[in-house]
Amino acid sequence: MTAPARFIGSEIYRGSRYGRKHPLAIPRVSTCMDLCHALGWLPAGVYLDSPRAGPRELARFHDPAYVAAVQTAEAEQRVSEAVRTRFGLGANGNPVFPEVFRRPATACGGSLAAADLVLAGTPTVYNPAGGTHHGRPARASGFCYFNDPVLAILRLLDRGCARVLYVDLDAHHGDGVQDAFHADARVLTVSVHEDGRWPMAGADPGDRPVPGGSLDRAGGAARNIPVPRGFNDSEMAYVVEAAILPLAAAFDPAVVVVQGGCDALAEDPLSRLSLSNLALWRAVRALVDVAPRLICLGGGGYNPWAVARAWAGIWANLQGSPIPDRLPPAAEAVLRRLTWRHSWGRSPPEAWWTTLADRPRGGPVRAEVRTAVARAMAVTG
Ligand SMILES: [Zn+2]
Repeated sequence: MTAPARFIGSEIYRGSRYGRKHPLAIPRVSTCMDLCHALGWLPAGVYLDSPRAGPRELARFHDPAYVAAVQTAEAEQRVSEAVRTRFGLGANGNPVFPEVFRRPATACGGSLAAADLVLAGTPTVYNPAGGTHHGRPARASGFCYFNDPVLAILRLLDRGCARVLYVDLDAHHGDGVQDAFHADARVLTVSVHEDGRWPMAGADPGDRPVPGGSLDRAGGAARNIPVPRGFNDSEMAYVVEAAILPLAAAFDPAVVVVQGGCDALAEDPLSRLSLSNLALWRAVRALVDVAPRLICLGGGGYNPWAVARAWAGIWANLQGSPIPDRLPPAAEAVLRRLTWRHSWGRSPPEAWWTTLADRPRGGPVRAEVRTAVARAMAVTG
């Protein structure tokens, strides 16, 4: 019998906030956990309380001086101007908050545990707190203090994995992961993201450095698929069929790591993409079959209802649970308890409380999407 899929979570995500007005002031992982509990999807032997990564584990990718600075920021709850400038702490959406070290270090510990689990034979592991794809070796970036996908991939490589495929479904380009492995042919990174959005990397599928930014495809080890506003379910299905699956088949990875950010959903306030959660689930499900092992992480997602429904549904798809058309009362109660400061949170549509699956949001596959796919497939590594 194959081992069951594992879900990694922690109570640290329930209480900690980036600050009252920060986009991540909303509870995300804890609501996903509560929903999955209410639906009976976290039986004994499936849920794993996340370990926390220590400074030495973090230093596999991060500058020890930076790791120490994040620890000090947590202890002192403030940073000097020099630290702010050097490490990006306490600036640009990366605030100093009470759990500023422990929370991201726990997300990293979870992703390292996910790597260890798949190395030991677990076929599928979900760590929705992971996916902090913008983290840099010595700098916080884009709400990401450490880079758990990079640490997990390094753990897989260090323990003998021949090839790892990283697929980034977040609305933002996976710049931190791409750049970490730009010279490593053992890792293929594929990012599908909104064209022209921060961090403004990943615009070109070719091999040219972006002025002042990151390399798009150094060493032939990255493919980028920038997509236009209004990106719909049919277009996502096309990207999966025409780009991601053929690239995966040619690369033949031992492990797939999926960044399952859900800020590409239509309800998300930080992007202009228009997916339903069905499109995200289909993409994740398609990736389960391309390698013997899969680690799925979280990522962006800034509407608390959309995140909880999308991520609980990812877990249902990973472990093969049927999704009810209407949520049972205990699950509905979890969603009804949520509040959101955003104007969209004043009178949420009934479906955000009573269902998990969105209505499909299909449409034409536009020329821009076909061109982006063709360009990514024309890159020769
Ligand atoms: Zn994002």
